[in-house]
Amino acid sequence: MSTIDGLPPLREVIATHGLSARKQLGQNFLLDLNLTAKIARQAGDLSGCDVLEVGPGPGGLTRGLLAEGARKVLAIEKDTRCMAALAEVGAAYAGRLEVVNGDALQIDPLAHLAPPVRVVANLPYNVGTELLIRWMTPAEWPPFWESLTLMFQREVAERIVAKPGSKAYGRLALMVQWRAEARIVMQLPPEAFTPPPKVSSSVVHITRLDAPRYPADGAILSRLTAAAFNQRRKMLRSSLRGLAPDIEARIEAAGLKPTARAEEIPLEGFCALARELAHAQV
Ligand code: SAM
Repeated sequence: MSTIDGLPPLREVIATHGLSARKQLGQNFLLDLNLTAKIARQAGDLSGCDVLEVGPGPGGLTRGLLAEGARKVLAIEKDTRCMAALAEVGAAYAGRLEVVNGDALQIDPLAHLAPPVRVVANLPYNVGTELLIRWMTPAEWPPFWESLTLMFQREVAERIVAKPGSKAYGRLALMVQWRAEARIVMQLPPEAFTPPPKVSSSVVHITRLDAPRYPADGAILSRLTAAAFNQRRKMLRSSLRGLAPDIEARIEAAGLKPTARAEEIPLEGFCALARELAHAQV
């Protein structure tokens, strides 16, 4: 069977290169090239962009990204067994695919990329949240990327886009939504993957803002939301007690009720309180 890019179908690639899925590497592969092209399209117009892909595996999404016109794809893959298959993709798209065999948590992609950069990945679940936190908390803002289009377990995706008042609302939502726009753009059932994982997945598209939505010091905001959500059922005056001696007055000065609970407070309220705490030098 031929494919749109003239390369073999992914089942054949996996059989040829002996790429049986390894659980410890979070290997749940996407084998439908129509689906991987659709995911690539969620990232917007890729022509004129470099794309960072973490965990290309046998190359299904990589092929989608290249077919959709990415200027260049930098693909970082830990599993050495995938290198031969990825070399074949590189040969079909001469000069547009760079593969690095290594751990994405250890490699600085910046040396390999030119702006504008978009990140697109079907992430290994074991490192997905850690990478997202890194990408959302660089030393300086704006970050190196324009957008992140990432596959997560549905439960994690819902935590990223959650709004106040919902069970999923917490630190991850605040961290992402403070400086970016996040929305779920695709839902995938377990059967979309080989082998199927236990849970459903979602693709989240995150677009950076040029500056934070509301002013606040990032370190204080992080400390504040950690304290608030570590005891999310408690009233703020109690969960935040350790942050300032006059915490109740600070909460009121920020326009919030000391008896409110973390999950009721919108991002704007946390930022106002972070500014109040900055005066108290927490
Ligand atoms: N992109 C492929 C697809 O959509 O079919 C594979 C996705 S699979 C969910 C995750 C991939 O990430 C696997 O190929 C796995 O070997 C790779 N991986 C796991 N941990 C990694 C790490 N720390 N750095 C780079 N790649 C990693």
